[in-house]
Amino acid sequence: MSHRESRRFLAKELAVAAAAYQVTVVIPHCAECAKPCCRLDPLVLELDWKQLKALWQLEESRTAFDRRLCSGKGPEEIRAGDGLYYAHGKVCPAYDDAHRSCRVYDQELKPSGCSDFPVYEDRGSVVADLRCEAVDLEALAAWIARAVGPEFRIVQSADEEFPFLVTLSVKRVAGAATISKRLRLPK
Ligand code: SF4
Ligand code: SF4
Repeated sequence: MSHRESRRFLAKELAVAAAAYQVTVVIPHCAECAKPCCRLDPLVLELDWKQLKALWQLEESRTAFDRRLCSGKGPEEIRAGDGLYYAHGKVCPAYDDAHRSCRVYDQELKPSGCSDFPVYEDRGSVVADLRCEAVDLEALAAWIARAVGPEFRIVQSADEEFPFLVTLSVKRVAGAATISKRLRLPK
């Protein structure tokens, strides 16, 4: 397997491990979460026009909405930038507060940021957002370590600007390849 193929394989393994952590650890906690992320405080939800129009049930054209937003008469929780929209400071309209659930959970409409939060694979590492109270960093690191095996060690680093974003990088243990090769040699 080439270096590039093995990096791609590792990234896939990490994506599977991150998704499994979400399903097993994070989602079961959502029903009792003290600060649900779907209230969008402090989180920001990134949306394209199609998602914004559907979730906010907007009737007008995009041009008319943008004009309204520019004039200060749009929804106060929405900001526009780089062709996208950002919602912050008000509960997401798709959030069912009574049942603590998302009304578009299984739908294409759900923004990708919602599926990624709080643990996701990014360029061969796993990123954890510690604003989610369900994330236990040490337990997550152990979870990832189990998924990739003893040939790798996990290195944690917090983002300088946003320290609640922690990257778990996977590094090959020095000599691990040599050990594997040796173990495969016939006796
Ligand atoms: S912050 Fe975490 S535990 Fe709380 S609702 Fe969001 S994903 Fe679930
Ligand atoms: S779309 Fe669903 S998961 Fe995303 S913020 Fe709204 S309620 Fe939460």
